[in-house]
Parts: sequence; C-alpha cells; structure tokens
Amino acid sequence: LGPTVTVGEILVEIMATTVGAGFLSPQPLVGPFASGAPAIFIDQVAQFGGAAGIVAAVGADDFGTLNVERLRTDGVDVSAVAIVPGKPTGSAFVRYRADGSRDFVYNITHSAAGDTSMTAAARTLIARGGHVHVMGSAFAIPGIGAVILEAVASIRARGGSVSFDPNIRKELAQGDEGRRLIDDMLAVTDLLLPSGDELLVAADAATEPAAIARLLDLGIGEVVLKRGSAGSSHFSRAFGRVDCPAFAVEEVDPTGAGDCFGAAYLTSRRAGLPPARALLYANAAGARTVTRQGPMEGVSSREDLERFIAAAGREVK
Ligand code: ATP
Repeated sequence: LGPTVTVGEILVEIMATTVGAGFLSPQPLVGPFASGAPAIFIDQVAQFGGAAGIVAAVGADDFGTLNVERLRTDGVDVSAVAIVPGKPTGSAFVRYRADGSRDFVYNITHSAAGDTSMTAAARTLIARGGHVHVMGSAFAIPGIGAVILEAVASIRARGGSVSFDPNIRKELAQGDEGRRLIDDMLAVTDLLLPSGDELLVAADAATEPAAIARLLDLGIGEVVLKRGSAGSSHFSRAFGRVDCPAFAVEEVDPTGAGDCFGAAYLTSRRAGLPPARALLYANAAGARTVTRQGPMEGVSSREDLERFIAAAGREVK
C-alpha cells in the first residue's frame, strides 16, 4: 500500500535555555527548530525508511523554508505543502519548569497553517496514500479538521488504515467539540497511540483495563500506550498485551518523543514486524529523541535505532 500521509501544523519552536516558569521577562532562547507534531511524526516515518508525505501550509518566510527544506532533505514528500502569501509560519515558544512540565506561547491559530486546504496537490498525495496518521493537536487549527476527515474517508474507502494520536494539550481547544472529534476518530481508528491520561480521557473510562476493553470493543485493532520513562504497552485481540521497558537515558528535552515513538511503531508494523519488535524500535526512537534539544533533532534512521538497541544490550527480535 501507498505512503503514510499526515495532515497538520508545521511551525518552528523556540525554547528557553533556562528552567523556570513563564515568559514574563527577557531570557536566553535557542531556535528556531523545525517542529509541529505532524511534521515531527512524518519526518521520523521517512527517516525510518517508510514512504511519507504531509499536507500542510506554511508562510512565504524563513520559518516556512526552514521546515520544508528539512522535511524534503529527510525524504518526506512535500508536494502538498502549500506556501501561503501574506501569512506567517506558526511558532511556539517553550519553557520547561523544574518539574519537567512545559509552558507554551503558541502563535499558530492565525498562522499560515490555518489556510491548510484540500488543494489539487493534497488530493493527489492522498489518492496515493495507504495510511493516514491523525494528531489531535491539528484539530485545534481552524480548517484543518475538515481536510483531515476528508483524507481519512478517502484513504479508508480505498482499504487504507488510520492511526490516531489524541495529543491532548491543555492549551488547545477542548470541551464538547473536542469530545465529539475524539469519538468520531475512535470510530475509524486502527491504531490508537495515547500517552498517560489521554488513554482514560479518550476512552472516557476510570481505569486502564476498562479503557483498553472499551477501545478494543469499539473495533480499534491496536492500542499502544506511551508511558514516558516507564516504556510502552501494546494491547490487541490478536496479540494480547505486550510490554516493553524503556531505555535508560538522560532526558534533555521531551518534546517529540511521542511523535517519534508513534512513527517508528507504525512504520515497523506497516513493514510487517510484530508488536514486540515494533515497540522496541519505538521505545528506542522515543528515548533517542529526549536526549536531543529540539523537537525534530532526535529523529533516527532504522540503523541508528539498531545501533542504539544493541549498545543497550537489548535485542531486536
Ligand atoms: P510528547 O508529547 O512529549 O511528544 P508523549 O507524551 O506523547 O510525548 P511519552 O510517553 O512521553 O509520549 O514518550 C513516548 C515514548 O518515548 C515512551 O513510551 C518511551 O518509550 C520514550 N520515552 C519518553 N521519555 C523517555 C525517557 N525519559 N526515558 C526513556 N524513554 C523515554
């Protein structure tokens, strides 16, 4: 089947180099780094060796060029990234607090990403797609939701599959509309990739076992739970429960771990690898990401991951 396609926001990330709360005073910053959860995800798909393309929109500015050239160089099909005149590429300012949580200042909603639409180039890419990956964060940007849902319908109608990372961020829109979107997505999802409490929120359940049971009953083929430094777990009717411990690394910057994890997992599964092996690659991809500053700076090739796994004394079975 055809490439993995995603639809969503591309932006730059600029981060504080000191730990503390908020952006209320001048402080040293580093960046811009290529970013946007869908962009990180699709870059990691391509770096792992999967065919990959993204439907997105950026401004005719340096931040847009930085992102598009990075994706192109890494092997992502950027033919469906529109350049929107008169609107800036989005940005996010990020600062880490001492407890590891993050403060964001987002400039995305009114950026070029809001002009993402079903262009002829997007239609052509989606018509070739074999899989579509959906990020919850993208629905917060006006207009993108409709493009995502059209891509999902089109790819499913041709026998393709769907993965969904709820990617629930407190800074982005939630409420009744968020709930409806999650429910609509769960009805068409083959692979669900929640992290932490997102599992309970997505399933509207009180405990992990109840959430898993509910999601598998809905017809979701696989649920893969990201547990940060505690690793990950796969749940499905076909394979039951498969746990994979995390790799021990020093965390420098957690941004992008979940996206790189999801991309390595999906691309492994699409290549026919069993869940245990896909989880090992995915945990390795997540772990490598957190050791690098910058959301997309820790993406890994399959060879990088195999070396990393071997160096940790673990085996790719
Ligand atoms: P983010 O939103 O920050 O991109 P996420 O919340 O979606 O991430 P996490 O569970 O934080 O997802 O990370 C995904 C995977 O990356 C984990 O399941 C784990 O395999 C790996 N990982 C993340 N943090 C660490 C860490 N500190 N040490 C080792 N592995 C980690």
